[in-house]
Amino acid sequence: MKANYLFGPVASRRLGRSLGVDLIPAKTCPFDCVYCEVGRTTRHTSERKSYVSAEEVLAQLEEFFSGGGQADYVTFSGSGEPTLSMDLGRLIRETKKRFGVAVAVITNGALLGDAGVRGELAEADVVIPSLDSARQCSFEAVNRPVAGTAVEDIIEGLARFVKGFTGHVWLEVLLVGGINDSDEDITALAGAIARIRPEKVQLNTIVRPPADRGMRPASAERLEEAAQAFSRVAMTEIVVPASLRASGEAPDDARATILSTILRRPCTAEDLAAGLSIPLDVVEETLGELVSEGCVRKVTVSAGDYYEPAGKT
Ligand code: SF4
Repeated sequence: MKANYLFGPVASRRLGRSLGVDLIPAKTCPFDCVYCEVGRTTRHTSERKSYVSAEEVLAQLEEFFSGGGQADYVTFSGSGEPTLSMDLGRLIRETKKRFGVAVAVITNGALLGDAGVRGELAEADVVIPSLDSARQCSFEAVNRPVAGTAVEDIIEGLARFVKGFTGHVWLEVLLVGGINDSDEDITALAGAIARIRPEKVQLNTIVRPPADRGMRPASAERLEEAAQAFSRVAMTEIVVPASLRASGEAPDDARATILSTILRRPCTAEDLAAGLSIPLDVVEETLGELVSEGCVRKVTVSAGDYYEPAGKT
């Protein structure tokens, strides 16, 4: 079967209608975060190379846009870490030049200590790096990095990147209850944010079913306390789920589109309806079919009912 490197567009909390591009095979990542919504990392690596054909990715983007597809952003993200791709810089450049669309990159920041990676990201419009801890011990507990990764190198790389970047940098911090949300963690993170100087900080916690099902979200009070500490050094917002709703006709391939989106990340029916512009009743009916056929399962967490691949561990 021919690989499909595009997913969505999905309703992104941060980017509006975002067409995702996945350059890395599922769960190939320098981290194995306890909260990862796409499951446990199966290939734990920092090796940069061409994991997929850049020409094929560009051909699929061409097909999407020439067929009338619309997106606010093309977003390099997905189920692996995009900066592992040696083609990232070229693909950012070509996407902007050929399709005239803004480009975002969602990265865990693990490779930003590398000046070459920083140079490749420099042509994006928005870079959304993560930093979940500024203390080595809780960094290792929450992100489970490749051995030898020092969080200090990541912080220094982020600071250097922001200094030379002309686009937007929105730093995402995800707090997990009891793992990286202590007073010490929040103080250390505030210090790191002051060094990095992002345009804004987006503070988040677990909302989708995490890789490690024993993990729990940070409390609303803790998020508020962290937001207050961070807002002394940078504009900070607590991110809330998108509330867009769809209207209009269902596309012919609604079922395939819904399934391919769920294979990339757990979604609610509302996420799917808004992101894919498929009426909510069609989405709900399709999800019911996929669940009864055993392709998809429903997982209920505090943020709502999410749908994920039935084979996910
Ligand atoms: S959340 Fe992102 S950085 Fe963490 S393991 Fe999953 S893909 Fe990798």
